Amino acid sequence: MPTQKVVPASATTSRSPRATLKFVPELVYFEPDALDYPKGKQIMDWVTAQGIEYQMTTSHNRITNLPGETDVEKYRIAKRTLVVGVRKTLHFDQSKPSAEYAIPIGTGCIGHCHYCYLQTTLGAKPYIRVYVNTDDVWNAAKRYIEERKPEVTRFEASCTSDPLSLEHITGSLSDLIERMGQEEFGRLRFVTKYHHVEPLLHLNHNRRTDVRFSVNADYVIHQFEPGTSRFEERIEAAGKIARAGYPLGFIIAPIYWYEGWEDGYTTLIKRLAQSLPEEAKWDLTFELIQHRFTKTAKSVIEKRYPKSKLEMKEEERKYKWGRWGQGKYVYPDEKAGVLKSFISEQIYEHFPTSRILYFT
Ligand code: SF4
Repeated sequence: MPTQKVVPASATTSRSPRATLKFVPELVYFEPDALDYPKGKQIMDWVTAQGIEYQMTTSHNRITNLPGETDVEKYRIAKRTLVVGVRKTLHFDQSKPSAEYAIPIGTGCIGHCHYCYLQTTLGAKPYIRVYVNTDDVWNAAKRYIEERKPEVTRFEASCTSDPLSLEHITGSLSDLIERMGQEEFGRLRFVTKYHHVEPLLHLNHNRRTDVRFSVNADYVIHQFEPGTSRFEERIEAAGKIARAGYPLGFIIAPIYWYEGWEDGYTTLIKRLAQSLPEEAKWDLTFELIQHRFTKTAKSVIEKRYPKSKLEMKEEERKYKWGRWGQGKYVYPDEKAGVLKSFISEQIYEHFPTSRILYFT
């Protein structure tokens, strides 16, 4: 059944929100099977209670007529559109270096980070999808855990979305955290740029979920991360997470070379040290990821964020072959080495007991 064309309120207004408020979609699509699951019904109740317009669609692949006059407008509206469906593929992708597998609970993100690889990987389907068949996804995860036992298997929940930004709608992250809490040989990990951690604070997690906050130099957050929570909000949330007993970490990504980057990253680490409560500091982890882009990403970003100041000059980068033939441009070795050692020194100076898990 093809979907109907509707025009949500934002179609005629421009938005560039900082996400201090919880996400409320402007348009919701349900795949019919989704309503056979308790989570599908629960989301339908939420949608109707909020008075949000919704439609039924046979499959998200049939959503081709989102409102909007231009491609950019359609893209912005898609980012405020939620599709509630059933996850069909239960084969998990690998997720090196942060975990063994990516666990799928959603796809797409409400944020507008210019550099985000979802801009490219989701191509023409940037709307947000959430999956209601949590039991199926969990049973698949259990099989992976069993296969690798007694090795511990880590699952990354943020490979295709920022799950915390959708938690008030789905509850899927809480569900996974509690289930993983009972698994001796399983670990969950997720990273977020949002601060709405309240639903997670009283869960029985058994320290088997690593919560990481994505942070960056002020310049990068202000230039390239519209639609995400402010730095101060993320840090305050990190303090709450540490006090709730979760293992806490930070991902600094993308590490970006700009004029004044040394000051920017020095200030970032200092601010972290000043703002975090003492109990959050003793066992921190850091993951460091330098900025990279593909040729396809560059052309997509230039179309969607035409005024972006994101530097993507191939001639100033090193080409690195990728797994599926699509190579990416990273910083040349010398620059990457300087970034890595400078930021690592800052981290160890302010957090001497922390661990840097990798620089990539
Ligand atoms: S918050 Fe994360 S997942 Fe969302 S757009 Fe930004 S980088 Fe991408």
